[in-house]
Amino acid sequence: MHELSIADAIAGVVTEQAVLYQATSIKSIHVRIGEANAVDTDALRFCFDVVSDAQPLLSGARLAIDIVPHRARCRHCGQEFHVVQCIMQCPTCDCWEADVLSGTEFMIQDMEIDNSTTREGGDG
Ligand SMILES: [Zn+2]
Repeated sequence: MHELSIADAIAGVVTEQAVLYQATSIKSIHVRIGEANAVDTDALRFCFDVVSDAQPLLSGARLAIDIVPHRARCRHCGQEFHVVQCIMQCPTCDCWEADVLSGTEFMIQDMEIDNSTTREGGDG
């Protein structure tokens, strides 16, 4: 179940950032995950809830997941195609040499934090 280790990794990174920015809580996290990583988004959300519940900064944070299609371009005929189950074969000419265009990324796109403190009249 690699979704748990992914959820753990996301939680680790965003918590580190939130501490840097002196956040009191993390409201939402937006991640981009390439299709080639074969992540089950429902499982990832479930795991993230479990992981975040145990951490005060993350408790109640919303996880938004963008899945990026796995696409490649054939080196032989230049055709761009959707890679299914990591089979990098061009559907047009059956060539097996292709360059990956997208779908392998894994990044935290942005996150929303709350760093309101008890003092009043903050500027900004
Ligand atoms: Zn081709």
